[in-house]
Amino acid sequence: MKKFFSYSLLTLVIIFSLLMLSCASSNLVIGEPAGYTQNPDLETVNKSETWQGTPLDSDGNFRNIYEPFVSNLIDFLRWQASTNPQKAEKKADTTRLNVVYDLSVLDNEEDKIIWLGHATFYIYLNGVGILLDPVLIDNFFLKRNSKLPFGIDDIKKVDYILVSHDHRDHCDESTLKILATKFPQAQFLAGLETDKLIKEWVKKSEVQGAGWYQKFKTNSNIEIVFVPARHWSKRGPFDENQRLWGGFYIKSPDQTIYFMGDSGNSKHFEDIANILGSPDYCIMGVGAYKPEWFMKRAHISPLDAIDAFNVMGGKYFIPMHFGTFDLSDEPLLEPLRVLEQNSNKIKGKLISSPLGTNLIQN
Ligand SMILES: [Zn+2]
Repeated sequence: MKKFFSYSLLTLVIIFSLLMLSCASSNLVIGEPAGYTQNPDLETVNKSETWQGTPLDSDGNFRNIYEPFVSNLIDFLRWQASTNPQKAEKKADTTRLNVVYDLSVLDNEEDKIIWLGHATFYIYLNGVGILLDPVLIDNFFLKRNSKLPFGIDDIKKVDYILVSHDHRDHCDESTLKILATKFPQAQFLAGLETDKLIKEWVKKSEVQGAGWYQKFKTNSNIEIVFVPARHWSKRGPFDENQRLWGGFYIKSPDQTIYFMGDSGNSKHFEDIANILGSPDYCIMGVGAYKPEWFMKRAHISPLDAIDAFNVMGGKYFIPMHFGTFDLSDEPLLEPLRVLEQNSNKIKGKLISSPLGTNLIQN
């Protein structure tokens, strides 16, 4: 049987059982949303008359706008039991992401976007420090295949810590606890109900939870909006889709940055650009996409990500969610190779610099 997040066989058996339990309820989500929700304390930036709030299914769980996520145990088992056609190629491929170890990148007031691997970014805009999906501590479940260019101790300023959803490769309890201790004034920003999970870990910190298209309260000249994604959530046995997932749209006086989070392809990319404008920088997840028949409901492929980027009208395409954690069938750096081979299709510039460098284009 194939590796899945490096879990032991016992863990897999437990997960299968729990997935089976969750399947029964998630089959009910197809059709129109059963209700809508939002945070009444936050401004909703989608002013369309047709937008009623973040959709809920008949169990009161969160659901995607266009393609409700349905757990499918049979499909999962089919993937796990199948042979990866790229197994030998993947094993032979020892190329890894390049990393630059130069702390001087942090020693100035210039705007910066720095990739630390997988979905973790350090962004510094207009004097405001932002960490996205920080996973900076070695994790029992997730083995790193790329080194960190620097660690928590090297980061001097963090004002906001953004968590796109509750999956463990994006939302790491140990990292968040250490960050809360080191940066007690930093605020945690996440989707509805994910804020409550984080608050249990960082009791002294301020944590905000937003619905889709809601703007977080920020006390600096930076805007951060939680935006939709086509994905799902699950962390424990009985909590599927009980915490909202999404992406972030960040605006400073000089830059606009869209961070996709995890997402399958869907019309929400076009919606986000229509509502918030075309972003300068699109940070697009392009890995964990094979086998596509199974993964596409939650992770977009590199080629579809190019289409989504073009639909959004972005200027700079920053790929992420590949090369660090081994979560799927494709070789670790294959997504980047696909992007580079198809760069002529990108109506903008592909930014594929090493980890630890400033990706802002002047
Ligand atoms: Zn995820």
